[in-house]
Amino acid sequence: MLPSPREQALSLLEALGVPPARLGAQGLAVHSPIDGVLITHVTETSPAEASALIKQAHAAFVQWRKIPAPRRGEFVRLLGEELRLHKQTLGQLVTLEAGKILSEGLGEVQEMIDICDYAVGLSRQLFGLTIATERPDHRMMETWHPLGVCGVISAFNFPVAVWSWNAAIALVCGNAVVWKPSEKTPLTALATHAIAERAAKRFGGLPEGLLSLLIGGRELGALLVEDAHVPLVSATGSTAMGRQVGPKLAARFARAILELGGNNAAIIAPSADLDLALRGIAFAAIGTAGQRCTTLRRLIVHESIYEAFVSKLRRVYQTVAIGDPRQPDVLVGPLIDAPARAQMDKALNEARAMGAQVTGGTHVDVPHLKGCYVAPALVEMPRHDGPVLHETFAPILYVMRYQNFEDAITMQNSVGAGLSSSLFTLDMREAERFVSVEGSDCGIANINIGPSGAEIGGAFGGEKETGGGREAGSDSWKAYMRRATNTVNYGTTLPLAQGVSFDITTD
Ligand code: NAD
Repeated sequence: MLPSPREQALSLLEALGVPPARLGAQGLAVHSPIDGVLITHVTETSPAEASALIKQAHAAFVQWRKIPAPRRGEFVRLLGEELRLHKQTLGQLVTLEAGKILSEGLGEVQEMIDICDYAVGLSRQLFGLTIATERPDHRMMETWHPLGVCGVISAFNFPVAVWSWNAAIALVCGNAVVWKPSEKTPLTALATHAIAERAAKRFGGLPEGLLSLLIGGRELGALLVEDAHVPLVSATGSTAMGRQVGPKLAARFARAILELGGNNAAIIAPSADLDLALRGIAFAAIGTAGQRCTTLRRLIVHESIYEAFVSKLRRVYQTVAIGDPRQPDVLVGPLIDAPARAQMDKALNEARAMGAQVTGGTHVDVPHLKGCYVAPALVEMPRHDGPVLHETFAPILYVMRYQNFEDAITMQNSVGAGLSSSLFTLDMREAERFVSVEGSDCGIANINIGPSGAEIGGAFGGEKETGGGREAGSDSWKAYMRRATNTVNYGTTLPLAQGVSFDITTD
């Protein structure tokens, strides 16, 4: 018999070193989606405290930027070590607070460790170019400097990994980080900060306030977005949130990394390895109970293999284990809360009204647990329209048929979001076309794997209504720094660029 989520969460918070003063009978109420029961309240940050923390972060940045980058990397290395030591406890807490199955909770912490390792290496590679100059005895180069306070706003579904993608890179780049986690998942944020404090102690201390946490609702996110001490905000959440945050940042010429909603598709071509596709599709569509930004939401299947493939998929939907995400055999945990389940019901009703055939999608009673459990829904649509065109943050997979590959690509691209996409095929021409300029219009385009489950080494993010931001690997670090072009004259004359002459009389 497993302990109650409340009991287990409180003992994990203690083991992780979260100060008891942050928890109590008043403040933000935190419920576990596993049983819907209140775990605790968390003290909220007042707007005045938030402004003071942002100012303090700016002062910390002014000190931190002078520390050599490889030394900053040493702090991130220690953070990675502490995360390794606390992987089990933090992973369990992610499961209790966000409801994802334990293997995914642990995977989320592993992703934090991975980005720390990546950032440590990066701390010795923040280099610019030297550029050929047209002027004799001159040198032209670019240098990269830290930016300032980086604001991070994160969503409930990756309650800690998103912070680490931003923070590990921002820190080695010489910045301070102020984090506004989701109001639904403040406990894992507090735990992450407690882990970072241990790393800071081993490092010999960080400038006071270099890492800060704002606990509360969207109004604290808005405050971060409007504060002139914050030159960059990385905001992860719904497209509706991005529509509010983006223009505010633009109005004060601050930088935005927007990581917003997805409406991701996979195409199954006639040549596809159907067994491999089945596993890829099942994980991408059902995993995390459909609550990943990269969750597969639209399946576009060639008509010649439709019945062979979709009948197997129907069986998976009918047999997948739903329940307490701490149980090892369970693959589908609860939805985050009742409004999420209501959104799912609404989308399914719209689909049914269009004539869709729905497998699953029902509410599921799990003995002794009052969470919002649902059977994942496989929705065979008469056409690509209605609820198919929008992200519903729940395990709904809409299935459509195609005849012609070009039409399948057009269908895949014909939604507002542009996050992730995939194609299952063994036809090399189709595969190359899909990743070419005429193929998928998404930030992520995969072949023979599903659209979800990215690694940190690549730049993560999407186009169109997904916001255009990129974070984690590749050259995403450049968004956290400012570039200066420097031209140095080591000669005795002053030739002007483009042959311009400007002779003044000197005595
Ligand atoms: P949400 O938009 O409700 O909230 C996300 C965060 O934004 C929260 O911290 C919230 O307090 C804050 N916020 C909301 N409105 C704000 C405003 N006006 N100003 C400042 N802050 C504001 O999203 P959610 O329900 O927590 O998460 C699910 C959504 O996040 C889905 O749409 C999913 O696709 C998206 N998501 C995207 C990515 C990505 O990398 N593209 C990753 C995870 C989740």
